Amino acid sequence: MTKLALAADLGGTNIRMAVVDDRGEVIGDDVKLPVPAAVEPPELVVQIGEMAEKCHAKLRSRSIDWKPEVVAFTAPAPVAKDFDGVLTKLPNLPTLVGMDLKGEIEKLFGLPVFIENDATAAAIGENWIGAGRGVRNMICATLGTGIGGGIMVNGEPIRGKDGIGGEIGHICVEPNGHPCGCGSRGCVEQYASGTAIVRLASERGMNVETAKDVYQACQAGDPGAREVFLEMGRYLGMMLAGLINTLNPEMLVICGGVTEGWDAFADAIANEIRFRAYAVGAERARLVKGELGDRAGMIGAARSAFLRLN
Ligand SMILES: [Zn+2]
Repeated sequence: MTKLALAADLGGTNIRMAVVDDRGEVIGDDVKLPVPAAVEPPELVVQIGEMAEKCHAKLRSRSIDWKPEVVAFTAPAPVAKDFDGVLTKLPNLPTLVGMDLKGEIEKLFGLPVFIENDATAAAIGENWIGAGRGVRNMICATLGTGIGGGIMVNGEPIRGKDGIGGEIGHICVEPNGHPCGCGSRGCVEQYASGTAIVRLASERGMNVETAKDVYQACQAGDPGAREVFLEMGRYLGMMLAGLINTLNPEMLVICGGVTEGWDAFADAIANEIRFRAYAVGAERARLVKGELGDRAGMIGAARSAFLRLN
């Protein structure tokens, strides 16, 4: 019998929710809403309840019987294996610090609740039914506002003792580089995220607002825009080469909106990896784009919850 999870991806700006079955299929459409700025915990709980009701209504309209066995959430916060559900470090949602997310959602739905870090969940999702199907060792980098990371070793996500395992976006690639929100300087996130692409382009005098603008300029033949992508690809390759030498993965999965510009930076990543990593590791690690898009986190959270339910 098919099992269902009510799965949600709680990000710094949006929350996305859907019903996901135990083969990774999203049943019905997903519901996506912005997380209100400075949202307080009670307000978020009300929003979660309303979104679940919308998911339910969508299934009812298609005569699908809705009985989830588990609720799966991601959080943009460190999540260790023994995570008790109380949110601690939340750079993008400081008003939720101290919220017992797990406890509140359990109360709301009367179901078991499991929480996974958002980037770890994306890696689990891509590893389950996305680009990394059947691969036991992979690194997943999600390029967006920042750079999220998830690492699978022998089929298991690396969470580390305190849940910060896999935070590859804060690997330093420029010792005295641009200051980072984490408190360090020169993190790869400052050179290869969507935000960084816009900054690097602005520093070259381009008038752009999004990474997409830079990509469009690149496609139109703008040499400055082309340089930006070569530079961000080189920095990503630097970070990935270090990880190849550390973990010897079979696959490198790059996810997130920035992958729309894949052809502008993929070669630069591969060149840098060939230059820096052990040859056998560089050859082993296949560089690919993610396949699940914005749903990777939600699907991975569901997978994680099904596994823990059993
Ligand atoms: Zn950092």
